Amino acid sequence: MKFIVLSLISIFFCFGLAVAQEGYASLRKAMVENQLQNRGVTHLGTLAAMLNVPRHEFVPEDLQPYAYKDRPLPIGNGQTISQPYIVAFMTEVLELKNSDKVLEIGTGSGYQAAVLAKIVDSVYTIEIVEELALEAKKRLKEMKYDNITVKAGDGYHGWPEKAPFDAIMVTAGADRIPQPLVDQLKLGGRLIIPVGPHNGIRQLVLLIKRKNKIVKRNLMSVRFVPFTRDN
Ligand code: SAH
Repeated sequence: MKFIVLSLISIFFCFGLAVAQEGYASLRKAMVENQLQNRGVTHLGTLAAMLNVPRHEFVPEDLQPYAYKDRPLPIGNGQTISQPYIVAFMTEVLELKNSDKVLEIGTGSGYQAAVLAKIVDSVYTIEIVEELALEAKKRLKEMKYDNITVKAGDGYHGWPEKAPFDAIMVTAGADRIPQPLVDQLKLGGRLIIPVGPHNGIRQLVLLIKRKNKIVKRNLMSVRFVPFTRDN
């Protein structure tokens, strides 16, 4: 009798989990259609990655029901995971290829790194808050994102040992573009970074490294948590 009751409980539990996962998959599909495609995101790799990566698994448990809403969410330590549209927009403008090696500064929850990792060959990501770096590393390992390497540290210096990179994404708002990141970009490489005064509106700047010049373009106004420095 006890065995039957326990079996029934576990069947209902698994069924509940499956229903929840199914629910999240359809919320994710609606997010991709309504928040991304309707706003002009067309890069197929980006759309597929956003459809695939379970965003709810990167946010605190009590916020999981809000994971697919059109908004940023807190992830602890005063940091936030960007609104899905911003994640997709920043990914799309990098024009990524399957063979690319990408550097991200500001690992946070690891969500953006996971999105990048679905598209490219390898992702290196640096997080200045050690606790967040360790958590993201553990989470990404459990989720089997084997092509992501996380390290704790000040991303201002980039990752010289792994450079040069096809693309670099900075997900914290800086007051200027760190020169080491430009230096670590391949020729033809792209860097996306929010730049502007702290506590203000910043511009999402796309930088392209050409043979004899650096081309910069402001793409849109954004709000981001600040890029901080190790002293
Ligand atoms: N990309 C993340 C969200 C980033 S929030 C995600 O998908 O969840 C911005 C992150 O940048 C924060 O976690 C913050 O601690 C980190 N950060 C700020 N300055 C940094 C620096 N100099 N080097 C590395 N990480 C930094």
